[in-house]
Amino acid sequence: MARYTGAVCRLCRRESQKLFLKGDRCYTDKCGFGRRQSIPGQHGHGHGQGRSTKVSEYGTQLREKQKAKRYYGILESQFRGYFELASKRKGKTGENLLAILESRLDNTAYRLGFAMSRAEARQLVRHGHFTVDGRRVNIPSFLVRPGMVVALKDSSRALEKFKSVIEANASRRPPKWLEYNAETLSAKVVAVPARDDIDLPVEEQLIVELYSK
Ligand code: SF4
Repeated sequence: MARYTGAVCRLCRRESQKLFLKGDRCYTDKCGFGRRQSIPGQHGHGHGQGRSTKVSEYGTQLREKQKAKRYYGILESQFRGYFELASKRKGKTGENLLAILESRLDNTAYRLGFAMSRAEARQLVRHGHFTVDGRRVNIPSFLVRPGMVVALKDSSRALEKFKSVIEANASRRPPKWLEYNAETLSAKVVAVPARDDIDLPVEEQLIVELYSK
């Protein structure tokens, strides 16, 4: 699946928000956010340019959608597909949409602390390091459901890369929809991700309004 591969820090500047796309660097002084906050592609703040420009309702809705797409590393067609799926589920479409995004296997691996970023988690899933219910799954977009067990594959546990990343993320708590077992390096999905489990600073209702036009 194609995905955005540009300089990711530009995306944070574009959204005027930290999106945590570069792993541990995002939590250190190396993060350039705040030092350079001009919007990529825009120079100066003259009339009709820059932050002072009044943003239209459409523009605001679009920004929220872009933010969510970038946070999870999803391209438009797939994001649209998730929206269609969310709108068919019971409950609030916006919350359903976030729950679906959150349930992707790559995000699940990231939330469990097996990777420093979602981009890295996606690559690790592709390389077949994880199992779901005992079977190897190498599809990052695979959606986990309550009752499933996600685990780091036996043969991957001894790899130095996992030892160090697990150690580095030891203080990171998995969300409550995942029941993590540090002994077996596995987690049972015990619920559908709730809105308050998801730290994405996005107004999902604006995304629903955008797609409902
Ligand atoms: Fe965004 Fe992380 Fe880059 Fe900071 S280091 S600008 S949070 S991607």
